[in-house]
Amino acid sequence: MKSFASATTALKRSLGARVDLSREGCWAASFDSSKISFLPEAVITPRDEQEIGVVLTLANKHRVPVTVRGRGTTLMGSAAPVRGGWVIDMLRLKKVRIDADAGMAHVQAGAKTADIQRAAEKQGWFYPPDPSSKEFCTIGGNIACNAGGMHGGKYGVTRDFVIALRGFLPTGEYVEWGTATKKFSAGFNLRDLWIGSEGMLGIVTGAVLKLIPQPAARWTLLTAYADEVTALQAARTLFRARVQPAICEFLDRESVLCAERATGKTVFPGQSGNAVILLEFAGGVSEMEELKPTVLAWAQANAVAHREAHSREEAEALWVVRRKCSGAMFELGDAKLNEDIVVPMRNYEKFARFVARLKRSSKLHIPTFGHLADGNLHVNIMYHRADAAETKRAEAAVQKLMETVVALGGAISGEHGIGLAKTPFLRIQHRPAQVKAMQAVKRALDPKGICNPGKMFEVVCIWKFTKLQVQLPWDHK
Ligand SMILES: Cc1cc2nc3c(=O)[nH]c(=O)nc-3n(C[C@H](O)[C@H](O)[C@H](O)COP(=O)(O)OP(=O)(O)OC[C@H]3O[C@@H](n4cnc5c(N)ncnc54)[C@H](O)[C@@H]3O)c2cc1C
Repeated sequence: MKSFASATTALKRSLGARVDLSREGCWAASFDSSKISFLPEAVITPRDEQEIGVVLTLANKHRVPVTVRGRGTTLMGSAAPVRGGWVIDMLRLKKVRIDADAGMAHVQAGAKTADIQRAAEKQGWFYPPDPSSKEFCTIGGNIACNAGGMHGGKYGVTRDFVIALRGFLPTGEYVEWGTATKKFSAGFNLRDLWIGSEGMLGIVTGAVLKLIPQPAARWTLLTAYADEVTALQAARTLFRARVQPAICEFLDRESVLCAERATGKTVFPGQSGNAVILLEFAGGVSEMEELKPTVLAWAQANAVAHREAHSREEAEALWVVRRKCSGAMFELGDAKLNEDIVVPMRNYEKFARFVARLKRSSKLHIPTFGHLADGNLHVNIMYHRADAAETKRAEAAVQKLMETVVALGGAISGEHGIGLAKTPFLRIQHRPAQVKAMQAVKRALDPKGICNPGKMFEVVCIWKFTKLQVQLPWDHK
């Protein structure tokens, strides 16, 4: 790894105690949730937003790679400093202020997503984007990855809630994209260019987020199906009836079995191992009452069993199923290729049949679950790292998966982004002209290539790296 010793000395002189050069500090910032480690030379924890401009100006002068880090929950390796250099840790910039009249949240980039939701809720407002990692991840990371979550189908993803952004261009110049107004039509929309740019086009220091009123009532229903194809057909029938669940989570048979192993309970007594869809409806009290007969009739006609939650506690017990399935998958293999693809609704059944074939042909466990209201499915290819033949089959399976998803009109990522892990597949999704256009934007905003270099465009097979054996706070025990 290239050394930037004189630049790091200048940085330390300029920002003093905010610059950590210790071995432990650098090691802790060397990896994200992908657990692939690349040691940086310094970790900067800015005390105020302006210090980020100071760091970037120095980095430009000395051509030092800079990787910005929220909480490091990305599974894609996007926060790993692959070229060394400096890491900027955003966690100290975490102010949150709710404008209760305007229905907006003014936040700093290091604020935790769940803290923003709680602050909004206290004032009767709702911030819907809800990545499962929300108790850990930052809003800056969410913006950089355009994070989604279970609410995506009804409400949208992070992009749909960003009103304005501020921060620094890779050159160290301060910029504001938009203001705290719901309308803004002045000039190119570079705010949206920053959303999903994975820390490669600039550093977000603050944002204005849109809030919506808290729904007055929620209603939860669990439904079970004879097989995956029937489950996906049933979901389409529901959407066709113009019913919009706030959450519509699908778990295939393998995911259900994982959840059952993890909880020690059958999801439906007598229906063990059937595919399920867990639904939550949210809205006004009378709206919920009006909706129930339609939804129950749908469940009666399409599912082999259904169970309604009559209280918040009962609903919570049903959600345990969904939360427990992911961790339990490691009983099926010690390695997981965790893909967050998107399939258009018209091709749901074709996709379910493809996954069934992939499981048979690869002879691997591939538990699949995800958000049916927006087609964002998590396909988990499980294998044993020490088994060379299995590893090869897993690599072939992920390639086939990506090719099929794009052929079906879908996307190779719906919420995690590209980072390092998805680089082998970027060109399946994008034509050469599209990749060239993205690279031209990168060069225009970051002429010295210092912001998060080595990501997105350079092909890296992340599964060939040795993973650190560390337990992260969000890992399933
Ligand atoms: C258990 C678990 C569950 C998850 N569930 C979901 C889910 O439901 N939905 C979902 O979308 N994702 C999910 N993720 C992935 C991850 O949590 C999200 O991508 C999240 O947005 C990352 O936020 P972070 O603060 O941890 O960012 P980091 O991991 O630190 O960084 C991610 C990327 O954002 C960039 N970045 C961070 N902060 C900034 C900033 N201020 N300015 C510019 N760039 C920045 C980094 O450089 C990096 O490229 C999950 C991850 C885990 C471990």
